[in-house]
Amino acid sequence: MQITFFGAAQNITGSKHLIESEGFRLLLDCGLHQGKRHEADALNRILPFSASDISATILSHAHADHCGMLPVLVKNGYRHKIFATPATAAIARLIMLDSAKIQQQDYLRMQKHAAADEKILQPLYSAEDAEEAATHFAPLPYAHAAQNWQPLNPRCRFKFYDAGHILGSAVTVVQCDQPGGTTTVAYTGDLGNTNVPLLHEPEIIAEPVETLIIECTYGNKNHRPIAEIADRLKEIIRDAVHNKRKIIIPAFALGRTQELIYILHKLYDQGEIPALPIYLDSPLASDITAVFASHRDDFDQETWADFISRNESPFSFRNLRSLQTVEESRALAAAHGPYMVIASSGMAEGGRILNHLEYGVSDPNAIIMLTGYQAEHTLGRKLQDGITPVRVYNRMYDVHARVVTVDELSAHADQRGLLAYVSQMKDLQRVFLVHTELPQATAFKAVLQQHFPALNITIPAAGQNFEI
Ligand SMILES: [Zn+2]
Repeated sequence: MQITFFGAAQNITGSKHLIESEGFRLLLDCGLHQGKRHEADALNRILPFSASDISATILSHAHADHCGMLPVLVKNGYRHKIFATPATAAIARLIMLDSAKIQQQDYLRMQKHAAADEKILQPLYSAEDAEEAATHFAPLPYAHAAQNWQPLNPRCRFKFYDAGHILGSAVTVVQCDQPGGTTTVAYTGDLGNTNVPLLHEPEIIAEPVETLIIECTYGNKNHRPIAEIADRLKEIIRDAVHNKRKIIIPAFALGRTQELIYILHKLYDQGEIPALPIYLDSPLASDITAVFASHRDDFDQETWADFISRNESPFSFRNLRSLQTVEESRALAAAHGPYMVIASSGMAEGGRILNHLEYGVSDPNAIIMLTGYQAEHTLGRKLQDGITPVRVYNRMYDVHARVVTVDELSAHADQRGLLAYVSQMKDLQRVFLVHTELPQATAFKAVLQQHFPALNITIPAAGQNFEI
């Protein structure tokens, strides 16, 4: 069996890993590269393999850096199924449609505003291409509900375990019978943090696994305990109400947004926070939240106890309003606090959050709250690193807002969580560290090797191929 890492290799976007066994080619994820616009586009423009040669595809979860290139895969001649959990299939369709829309908007904006020597980037795919890709989804529940292996061909099979990262996220276990015996490989996709609201903990894999492909976004770091987030939010919100501040939160439309709303709803019900108006300025997040409501079995016990058993939705309460139109978004951005606005994108690279940052970054009375991983070169990372001035749309702004990072809510396992996950694997021999920048991977490799001296650990580079 061979494995090639085509993306998320020494960086955290563009996940694409190819497993080959006796001519059978299984693609694990087909994600968009994100980051510097022209560099990312060059990587996304051409698939690093022949789409028509792929025999089957498995999607770990619906984040764009894992699913966002599926329309390109199908456009280039892929004709087979794309396996995913039912929630992932439903959300990935929305994410791909949104991605097509953003590409079209970027294209139109560049046509108008690009410098004379700047190359105008054509969209990678259209909404029709995204819909076409979605017709390939073959939804399959987690193994704890379905029990059986899903056959891929007469020699290979797979099953899904709950990864606890976002709704529908799965760890994939693939087993292939080979001339020398059976080989089992597990791919974590993105692995969840423990004790986060809404979701189950990452599930323990029952089968012995020889080779593990594991993400390690936070391989060098431990998160603050999630229990602290309520106190930090309370403090920030009380201060905002008292001083009439606005709190601007860039958040992924999928995952962080729903978790934040859950926590705010609970704090409000408990009388712990004052009645601050909260705006969800993301039509995509509203659509995804509706998908959440139809997958209640994927929620953890706490969510059932807090809300569902009382026949209440965690995602709607009196203070919360969803904005639909761009005009509403702009009007709110120009308004005075106190209020909180949650808008995507999570790393402030695009989307309606830019309307709010355009007004907010230079406002000393504003708070910018970063809630997730901020990749290198993104506006979110620059704000996190205290860089000033920063570019928002086409203008530079001095940063006077207070920038706070609330990483307790991370959707990713931290170093402790990753180590605990590897520790529960049986018969593990080989580990590949993916979905990580090199410093994080190097730190995690050292810790892992210290705990498991016999383990063969590799940090693959893009395009590298291994016999397993
Ligand atoms: Zn993810």
